[in-house]
Amino acid sequence: MIKKKVLVTGGAGFVGSHLCDRLLKEGNEVVCLDNYFTGQKQNIVHLMNNPYFELIRHDVTMPFFIEVDEIFNLACPASPIHYQYNAIKTMKTSVMGAINMLGLAKRIKARILQASTSEVYGDPQVHPQVETYWGHVNPIGERSCYDEGKRSAETLFVNYHKQNNVKIKIIRIFNTYGPRMHPHDGRVVSNFIVQALKGEDITIYGDGEQTRSFQYVDDLVEGMIRMMASRDEFTGPVNIGNPNEFTIKYLAELVIKLTGSKSKIVRMPLPSDDPTQRQPNIDLAKKELEWEPKIQLNEGLLKTIDYFASII
Ligand code: NAD
Ligand code: UDP
Repeated sequence: MIKKKVLVTGGAGFVGSHLCDRLLKEGNEVVCLDNYFTGQKQNIVHLMNNPYFELIRHDVTMPFFIEVDEIFNLACPASPIHYQYNAIKTMKTSVMGAINMLGLAKRIKARILQASTSEVYGDPQVHPQVETYWGHVNPIGERSCYDEGKRSAETLFVNYHKQNNVKIKIIRIFNTYGPRMHPHDGRVVSNFIVQALKGEDITIYGDGEQTRSFQYVDDLVEGMIRMMASRDEFTGPVNIGNPNEFTIKYLAELVIKLTGSKSKIVRMPLPSDDPTQRQPNIDLAKKELEWEPKIQLNEGLLKTIDYFASII
């Protein structure tokens, strides 16, 4: 018997495809909605023969009508290169996508989870980042279409909850990596692994002393499932990330070591507004969701290296 009918927007993307896998495995019916801007059919092709999986080409900036029990709203490009390619569209996707999905959730009384981001903290002046920190975002900078779009989406979620009693869940996702990242995605983990496997130069932007905390995708999916299943009163926002923080230079050296590559490290200019540090405080997720990441960097990188080695 089918447990729930679940809509996943952005389901053909990196994170969305893993979430679809997990939801189907747990006996749910899944509707995957995507416009294939950064996602690809390849990520979900293995699900096409599953009668409980349905794929719909649709853009979340346009209204969408369906009957489901739960909505996971992931549609939005996540890599800086892709979200800056058409900044206006990125903002429309976050804001109009949120309005359309919240309107749907309100009408059909579905629970709805928003994939927000650590980028709402901008270039943070509080370290590590706690959910009560309001952030430090340049509203007119290169990254603002994404950061402010996601901040506006959080505002919309909170107000649909207050005004219309929509059952909302907001998670703030920190840098996540794993199999099915696009090889030309542009984010640091996929860039370094692809460069190392091809024997190309490893491109560190800036001095490499900036930090990030990398989470393996399976840990994120577990956090998403637990958040959706949490008590109604717990709306978030809640940080979902791995608190182990590393410099980008360390990541480059580790990828070279794990791949046994002969690649050299080269320096490139640091993009503007690139955050200098990022690390989640996950006390709230531990308390409310009894969740914490299980897969550490070495293990997750090895799985991701295996994946890229199989496709390039
Ligand atoms: P991704 O780019 O691989 O996936 C995004 C998916 O959304 C793609 O399949 C894309 O085609 C689809 N999409 C984009 N615009 C759309 C639109 N207008 N209509 C319909 N579909 C659209 O990125 P990801 O890493 O899988 O990220 C998924 C979500 O998680 C995003 O909302 C992202 O902001 C959030 N997030 C991810 C990370 C991370 O490190 N991966 C960190 C923070 C937040
Ligand atoms: N970065 C890098 N080389 C690359 C890609 C990214 O040094 O080839 C740096 C980037 O400047 C940033 C960090 O790695 O400091 C993480 O970048 P990513 O785009 O993965 O995520 P975000 O900046 O959004 O956290």
